[in-house]
Amino acid sequence: MPPVFRFAPSPNGFLHLGHAYSALLNFDRARETGGRLLLRIEDIDTTRCRPEFEAAIYEDLSWLGIDWEMPVRRQSEHLPDYRAALDKLSALGLVYPAFESRAEIARLVSAREGEGRWPRDPDGAPLYPGNVKSLPVDARERLIISGVPYALRLDMAAACQRVAGLTWTELGEGADAERGIVPARPEAWGDVILARKETPTSYHLSVVVDDALQGVSEIVRGQDLFHATAVHRLLQVLLGLPEPSYRHHRLICDCEGRKLSKSSRSTGLRELRAAGASPASIRALVGLG
Ligand code: GLU
Repeated sequence: MPPVFRFAPSPNGFLHLGHAYSALLNFDRARETGGRLLLRIEDIDTTRCRPEFEAAIYEDLSWLGIDWEMPVRRQSEHLPDYRAALDKLSALGLVYPAFESRAEIARLVSAREGEGRWPRDPDGAPLYPGNVKSLPVDARERLIISGVPYALRLDMAAACQRVAGLTWTELGEGADAERGIVPARPEAWGDVILARKETPTSYHLSVVVDDALQGVSEIVRGQDLFHATAVHRLLQVLLGLPEPSYRHHRLICDCEGRKLSKSSRSTGLRELRAAGASPASIRALVGLG
């Protein structure tokens, strides 16, 4: 079976050099290995995703000389797939509704921090401080029926008890990349959100479901998602999904060494193209020669 790769941008802004690097690496790997390249549009956050950004993704990738298999998978069209996975995790007793607002969570975190150090996740955000896990089922149901918004969270301690020796295979991109079997520590993320009242999925859940449904065998993506792989591996094991390998690549940074954002105009593909850049010069700029 040929290897399957995917590029999975979110249409919440225009693509920049960092996306170009990731997309070109996927495209090159697929070509070198006789593999397939899929494109997935990660558009579950309807408040930030816009059709014009999606149209620009197709245009910019084509301009770079990248082609991908059709049809493109748009996550917003597959919500039942994510709901089915969520139901499976709920049936295992691993999901609970958490009713705190963002402001309440921030208050709880500062209270915990006042009592001493409160742990942060690998991205630097404080772990979820709530304890509604212990709320009796009838109290939960009353709150849900009364219309209070909620997030569905993974009971991380219970989930971790079901899996032992969780690891992933890191292929690493570049000369000094970390490679080999990496121990996965999903507990470092606390009780992550899997879905919300109005959205039956989250980044972690949909990425895992889609990679499996699309048969992705090698995930090539930015180093910023290296630690999130622990959560993805946990969900794969809990849901009985196959294990892909991972190749995390360096991030392209701006001249001050910061990770590029979708609003950094000087590194936007559209701006570079308007200023006369060619697809070959974009390759050179990201170090792909
Ligand atoms: N949609 C994510 C992003 O644009 C990428 C997800 C992934 O590659 O796993 O950052």
